[in-house]
Amino acid sequence: MIETKSYIAKSVELMRPSGIRKFFDLAAGMEGVISLGVGEPDFVTSWSAREAAISSLERGLTSYTANAGLLELREAIADYTSSRFSVSYDAKEEIILTVGASQALDLALRAIIDPGDEVVVVEPCFVSYAPLVELAGGKTVTIEATSDQQFKLQADALREAITSKTKALLLCSPNNPTGAQLDKADLEAIAQIVKQHDLLVIADEIYAELAYDIPHTSIASLEGMRERTILINGFSKGFAMTGWRLGFICAPVELAAAMLKIHQYAMMCASTPAQYAALEALKTGMKDVEDMKKDYRRRRNYIVQSFNDMGLDCHTPGGAFYVFPSIQSTGLTSEKFAEELLKAERVAVVPGSVFGRSGEGFIRCSYASSMEQLQEAVRRIQRFINQ
Ligand code: PMP
Repeated sequence: MIETKSYIAKSVELMRPSGIRKFFDLAAGMEGVISLGVGEPDFVTSWSAREAAISSLERGLTSYTANAGLLELREAIADYTSSRFSVSYDAKEEIILTVGASQALDLALRAIIDPGDEVVVVEPCFVSYAPLVELAGGKTVTIEATSDQQFKLQADALREAITSKTKALLLCSPNNPTGAQLDKADLEAIAQIVKQHDLLVIADEIYAELAYDIPHTSIASLEGMRERTILINGFSKGFAMTGWRLGFICAPVELAAAMLKIHQYAMMCASTPAQYAALEALKTGMKDVEDMKKDYRRRRNYIVQSFNDMGLDCHTPGGAFYVFPSIQSTGLTSEKFAEELLKAERVAVVPGSVFGRSGEGFIRCSYASSMEQLQEAVRRIQRFINQ
């Protein structure tokens, strides 16, 4: 018998398991759980996109695509980013289809980080950021965004976090887990500092389609920012296509070429049927995106109101499909609150602490569930609070 554990890379040994997983595992063993824990749409991918994938299979289109993805899809993405977010990319040289926004993040970080380079991350944030930075050999420098600023990155905090080793800012708007959306003025202030310090921005805009009150602004569209932004987006959230695993990167030629180098060895290309589905989604699926967005907006308004009525302070997030109410009035830690709520009332939420230290005192609730489920969850949470 060999000691297999001793073969595992130190970087992986040291990696902490995701705090979200733990709650899924707990909830999975229980009956009748309403989950506000998951970060994915409850909608099914539009029928036209599914049909396009089926048709591609019927036509026998089962080979690899070009490493960067189907040219036709890259062209459609170039049109999409320019018409929707006012930033233009060359379909041949500046766009890469990836296995979800997840692989896009990994590619971006691996392409730019030399050992010891620092990447500034704004917490509370998506749980993958720090582990991916560290796997790429970088060091995460954390800024703690706070509830009194509605969890938005403040320019001063960014200025303070920058050192001579800082290479990039990893920025997510609309945000997971807080739903915070940075408006144009917020982004302008951030962009100014980024330019002053000659940094790159990795812009995770996976929730760009899910902006409810004001349209999404891409930081890449601001003056002088296209050349220093790696723009990440995808089909998972706005297009309800999580399981297809399709995202994309838009970046200036040299950065895109560097990422494509890794991609061609590590992944070859994204899934072919998924690319045909996405092409159709861009061509004919925007109405579905709008309809889903209307529904999310309605649910957001309901759940924000419900939490505030219960006495759990909850600001109205501009985007994504999460609310991040404060549970400080209960005197429980966010982990204890989530555990007790699950045990007592069978509602799964995610403790804010798993998204970073400044998430303590909050819980993340996804409203990507039917209105009936949300209403029942609210009843149960209210009962839990009353006790
Ligand atoms: N970024 C953020 C902020 C996310 O919330 C997620 C999914 N939870 C991803 C990236 C990854 O998305 P994908 O399914 O496209 O890999």
